[in-house]
Amino acid sequence: MEIKKGKIIIISGPSGVGKSTIVKEIIKNKNLNLKFSVSLTTRKPRLGEINGVNYYFVNKKDFLSAIKKGELLEYTVFINNYYGTKKNDVDKWINNGYNVLLEIEIEGVKQILKKYKKDELISFFIMPPSLEELKKRIKNRLTENDNSIKLRLERAIKEIEFKSYFNHVIVNNICDNAKEEIIKIIKNYLNK
Ligand code: 5GP
Repeated sequence: MEIKKGKIIIISGPSGVGKSTIVKEIIKNKNLNLKFSVSLTTRKPRLGEINGVNYYFVNKKDFLSAIKKGELLEYTVFINNYYGTKKNDVDKWINNGYNVLLEIEIEGVKQILKKYKKDELISFFIMPPSLEELKKRIKNRLTENDNSIKLRLERAIKEIEFKSYFNHVIVNNICDNAKEEIIKIIKNYLNK
């Protein structure tokens, strides 16, 4: 029997909005047949982040080599660091019927939108309740210095301008509600 190809599920939105927490929750739902695509990054690990789980932490030389070898589906520079999605994993999983979760920023999303057909994608843009609240969340993370907070907020304002590129815009007021809303929407797509 032919395997039904999986979908690419994009979760995007400003840094600090709570994407990773939402993704961590969604991935626990066994009915959605999900795989999380672990990205490459040249950013240094934050406290508690594990290589191969949160990201593959690599140096710039290895990242540039991955680009050169065509190993990345998309990549970008986000506040002085490279971030990119490994091609192999995504293609392999989709062909095996898994739905693949990508947690990526807008420049990467634009590249994915060019590479895949509309019906191969389900995309979500996660909005903060307000910019003030976003600032608070980035600060509370205690991982960014003042300059990084400033740059991330500036970038957030630019990213929000692109929210119409996405199938669904979800306001992350209460994480549990946002998670449930997203799961419900994904289930609808998968049942079509
Ligand atoms: P952070 O440093 O906060 O982990 O991530 C910074 C931004 O990069 C976040 O918006 C995150 O979603 C995004 N990001 C993480 N991995 C990738 C990736 O593989 N590609 C792209 N384009 N963005 C990514």
